[in-house]
Amino acid sequence: MRETLRPATLAAQALGGIDEATRALVPPVHLSTTFLRDPDNLYRSGNVYGRPDNATVREAEAVIGALEGAAETLAFGSGMSAAVALFLSLGAGAHVVAPTVMYWALRNWLAKDAAGFGLSVDFVDTENVAALERAVKPGVTRLVWLETPSNPLWGISDIAECAALAHAAGAMLAVDSTCATPIFTRPLSLGADVVMHSATKYLNGHSDVIAGALAFARADALFERTRDIRKAHGLILHPFEAFLLIRGLRTLDLRVRASALNALRLAHRLAAHGSVLAALYPGLPSHPDHNTALKQMQGGFGGMLSIRVKGGAEAAVATAARTRVWKRATSLGGVESLIEHRASIEGPGSPCPPDLLRLSAGVEDVEDLWRDLDAALRG
Ligand SMILES: *Cc1c(COP(=O)(O)O)cnc(C)c1O
Repeated sequence: MRETLRPATLAAQALGGIDEATRALVPPVHLSTTFLRDPDNLYRSGNVYGRPDNATVREAEAVIGALEGAAETLAFGSGMSAAVALFLSLGAGAHVVAPTVMYWALRNWLAKDAAGFGLSVDFVDTENVAALERAVKPGVTRLVWLETPSNPLWGISDIAECAALAHAAGAMLAVDSTCATPIFTRPLSLGADVVMHSATKYLNGHSDVIAGALAFARADALFERTRDIRKAHGLILHPFEAFLLIRGLRTLDLRVRASALNALRLAHRLAAHGSVLAALYPGLPSHPDHNTALKQMQGGFGGMLSIRVKGGAEAAVATAARTRVWKRATSLGGVESLIEHRASIEGPGSPCPPDLLRLSAGVEDVEDLWRDLDAALRG
């Protein structure tokens, strides 16, 4: 039955389960950190201790796993802890290839901290399959990391082509699909081995939970090793956060479609605005990866876009200072629209152009969003 249900239905009903003890449609939050042993000294419930085991966390994992078509899913206390746990599971000596343009905090960890754990990392433009092919070392590279659409230029990497290339070299493919969401892209169905989410963003959707997830194509050694790292390092999501995440997931389909429609409408208008040098959105025919986006993304191009403001960094910061409806804040994927001068938060060495404003389109009325941006851009 579950295989025949569409994502909107699976998400809205949180897979349709009920609490057997009370017949409640909304599951209880399991806060217990410890569980009763059976008289014969076994733990048949599958629950021993709260650091590895929690029923509410498993319910959140089940919803995300169903949406991604995963064999196993693990929820973490943040997107960063999910990603770092996966990299650590590769073990010392592993070679990793990651994108030049990607989520800044994770890129910093890979560039500065990963070597301390014995990982070697090469950065390459993963939107360019030929360049990726040159960077992957057959028999040596263990993991290729993609982020698509990627922060903050919204480049689209071809998941199917990159998966084939990685697998031919004996490597695995992991995809940070935070900005695509399982509504618009299902990386496992395109050949990826693991999908990562900052569930802080669209999956929760209300800017009130920090959470992460890894969805695995197979219940294999990589999954088991990552689960062991989550247990040993205490990286599991808190049960109350898991409950909020399940609640947020119920409206995922509605929210991301509304955000993506707002983003598309705004991108077209911004591309034609006199104060805008360029509008970056994979749904625009002018975007260099538009054709890959058309092939890979179903039903929308996501709610994230960027603009490059005429007049450089100063003009960009001044524009953000004038918005009222758009809130000046980092993060993305909530129901409220956010605007951010990205270079200010990424700091020195960032590949982000200094005149770039990153926009996370929320679900507000698009005309309110437009009037506010238009007025801010006019000054
Ligand atoms: C926010 C984000 C992360 C990090 O997730 P946290 O939940 O903040 O730890 C990773 N990748 C992308 C694309 C993100 O937007």
